[in-house]
This record gives sequence, C-alpha cells and structure tokens, in this order.
Amino acid sequence: MHRLAQLDHAHVWHPFTQMRDWLRREPIVIVAGAGAVLREVLGKEYLDANSSIWTNLHGHNHPKINAAIARQLKRVAHSSALGFANEPASLLAAELVRVSNPNTARRASSRAGSAAASPHLNKVFFSDDGSTALEVALKLAYEFTRRARGRKLKPRFLSLAGAYHGDTIGAVSLGHVDLFHKAYGGMLFKTDKVMSPYCYRCPFNRAKPERADARVYRRCHWECVGKVEQKFRAQKKRGNPFAGFVFEPLMQGAAGMIPQPTGWLRQVADIARGHGALLIADEVMTGFGRTGALKVENRKPKTEGLFAGHHEGVQPDFLCLAKGLTGGYLPMAATLTTQAVFDAFLGEYHEFKTFFHGHSYTGNQLGAAAALASLEILQGKVSLNNRTTLARALALELPSLWSLPQVGDIRQVGLVAGIELVKNWRTREPFALRERAGIRVCEAMARRGVLTRPVGNVIVLMPPYCTTVAQVQAMIAALGESVSEVFQ
Ligand SMILES: *Cc1c(COP(=O)(O)O)cnc(C)c1O
Repeated sequence: MHRLAQLDHAHVWHPFTQMRDWLRREPIVIVAGAGAVLREVLGKEYLDANSSIWTNLHGHNHPKINAAIARQLKRVAHSSALGFANEPASLLAAELVRVSNPNTARRASSRAGSAAASPHLNKVFFSDDGSTALEVALKLAYEFTRRARGRKLKPRFLSLAGAYHGDTIGAVSLGHVDLFHKAYGGMLFKTDKVMSPYCYRCPFNRAKPERADARVYRRCHWECVGKVEQKFRAQKKRGNPFAGFVFEPLMQGAAGMIPQPTGWLRQVADIARGHGALLIADEVMTGFGRTGALKVENRKPKTEGLFAGHHEGVQPDFLCLAKGLTGGYLPMAATLTTQAVFDAFLGEYHEFKTFFHGHSYTGNQLGAAAALASLEILQGKVSLNNRTTLARALALELPSLWSLPQVGDIRQVGLVAGIELVKNWRTREPFALRERAGIRVCEAMARRGVLTRPVGNVIVLMPPYCTTVAQVQAMIAALGESVSEVFQ
C-alpha cells in the first residue's frame, strides 16, 4: 500500500463513511486533476462524474481560477471580516447581488400576486459551507419573525420530506433523512415536514411504471401541492403560521436526486407567500447553472439565469449558496437576503439588535477571489456552450440505460442526473439498503475509471461543465457495464 494510503488508514476519519469498510481497501489517493479528470498517486486516471461531491463547476486546475487565487495570494490570503472590509469580498457581494436578481424573476413573481412576492436580494452574509449558509438563513429568519410578530410564539419552519440541508444542528433540524438524522434527535429543535413531489414513488401517482422519467407519464391531481396547502392552513389554525418554508428548487439532491414536475415550485411558493412565510431557497446543490440554461435579462448585458428558482420565477427571501460558489476550489458560502431583513437588525449599539453570528474565515479573500473568477467564467460564452453541450449529451446518452432491468427511473435536470436502481422495474420494488446496490455499482464504476457516489440506490451523474461528449459517453457506458456486472 502506498505510504499516503497507509497514513490515511492510520489517522484520517472520513465523512459519511463506514470506516470498517474503508479500512478493508486501499484508498484512491488523489494527487492531481485537470478538467473532468482526476489522477491518483499510482498514476491511474479517473473521470470525476460527481464533480467532487457536487462542488466543481468548470473542471479541475482551471487556469483562470488558478490565476485569480495566485494573484490574491501575492497580496494577502485572509483578513478578518470582524472590523474590516476587503477587496474581493466587496466585489463578490456586489456580483452575487447582480446575478441573483434577474428581471424575469421579478416579472414572473409580480404576475403571481403582490409586490412582496418578488424580493430584491441586496445583502450578503458570508460563511464557509452549505450547512452554515442554512444556519445563517435560519437564525436570521427566526429573529426577523420574532421582531415582526412578537416574542410570544416560537417561529416554526416547514421543510420537505427527505430533505438534507447540512450537518450542523440547525441544518439537521431542517432535515428529514432518518438514516443520517435520527441519532441526533435529542439535540434538535422541532420542525415540520411536508410531502415532496417524488413522482416515481408517489402514492398518488396512478400510472404504471414505464421506461421513462416518472414526471413525464405520471397520472395525478397535484395531491403533493394540496398537501403543502393543508400544512400551511393547519399551522395557521394553530395561531402560529409558519415563519419560513425551506426547499431546494427544481431538484432535491441528497434526498435522492428527486426532481419536481414543472409548475410545482411556482405553486408551493405562492401558497407559502400567501400564508406569510419567508422563502428559504437552498441552492447549495442547484445553484450556478447546474439545473440548465435559462435566458434572462439582467439589465445589461443579457445574461443567463444561474439559479434554479428562477426557472419558475421564484425569488426567495433567503438564497443559500455554497458548493459551487468558488468553482469547487475553496470552502466558502453565502446567504443572500433582503434590505427588509437587514433593517430589522439595525439599532443603537446598546439595543443589541446586532446579528451575533460569524466565523473566523468569514469573507475569506482567497475564496472570494476564486468565486469572482468562477462567476466570470460562468457568464462567458464558453461556459454557456459547454453547459448546453453537456445537457444535450446527457439527454442523448442516458436513455441507453433503460435497456437494463435494474433501472427504475432516470431523472435529469439540466446538468445533473439520478438513476434509481430497483429490484424489479415493473413493480418499483426497491433494493434493501443493506444490499448496498448503489455502493456496489459505484465501486464497479471506479474500477472502470469513473468516480461517483450514490445516494442510497440512486447513482448520481453530475460532471463538471467542461466534460466532453466522449467523456459523458464513457461515464454512462461504465455505469451500464457496472450495473450488468453487479446484478448479472
Ligand atoms: C451539500 C449540501 C448542503 C450542505 O453543504 P456542506 O457544504 O456540506 O455543509 C446543504 N444543502 C444542500 C442542498 C446540499 O447539497
């Protein structure tokens, strides 16, 4: 075993990993990367089919991001946001505000109702990870609500079944993945959950399974939207309407790559607004163009919509960003919100209305420089073309997997796809978790030079935007062969 692998085995405790399994195998030690390719210490090359757990946007070792970090590094790596502003963080905040307020979001929202339905995101609170971005939104929404409604009632939050919003205690409280979250029940605060639109396994979907994305052939009466309406009504009756509605727009990631049928988001956002709830959009996974191209006017010049909510004209009160923010280079997150929320925390010093929250590396200069470069690349022609090509390649190649009887559902949203493996596609009978179907398929894919991680029995394909058509074909071929090998 390589010395680095030995040291890992001796000392490193890996996230979300059964370490007994880990210690049985020689780990892949990554030492280099370029574009969609990662190289390990023994020289073998792999395709990074999940963008290094959904963080990487433009590929590894991108010359523009490398240069931006190097430039910043020659000046200063970090200075504290407690007491000081800095150049890249100021520029990045302004740029995030610009790209997160496209005109179409406002138009679509005002069609739907009141002026309040289209908040202008104007303030940026930096932190370090997706979890902390959610934590910030939660604390702000909690305190904002108490200042608006009075302190007698505890603000309550509603999130979606199967939701995953991170691993800090607040984020876990919003989550509904029993496998991850149950153990910590005693540490959490109470939130409510509502049905999410999981068409493939929806009890209201009367359609028999077909060899197509379940959203397309589903037969239902939008019962999932009705459930959201019911939840809001019931909570209002209790005299304490929900303070906030937390959701991933267009697709729930760690819940199992569960896509929403067109129109769901618009409808539930209107319901939540109608009941006076703040919208908290978790775009940690979906943000920065991942859910596909959407042309919007963003004053001048015309740019492309980068956030999933804007596909349905939904502008939240809180927009949580992380993973792709720095192009997958450095841990950095941002929570965007409105002037109204910001103003609620203004007062004389001795009134202690301050938002008492922050982290040592808030507004980190290297991270902000990387993020600025990433946003610039994202808005260029090359990236837009790459993304169009990648979305098309996935749409063309994925259907080949229907020939495998263990494929139950294939769900693509823009540049991300989930392939749900089942025991029997005619009945949707799932594999038991203990059969490790997803894990075994991903291990077989790694032997074929393709790296990804499953979510339960769902195989995730979420390549960097620079991935070529040939590389997409290689990923999907490896997936197909691996399924055949594992279940032969
Ligand atoms: C990954 C993820 C998080 C948590 O982000 P971390 O950076 O891992 O803390 C939160 N929400 C969503 C939707 C995610 O995909």
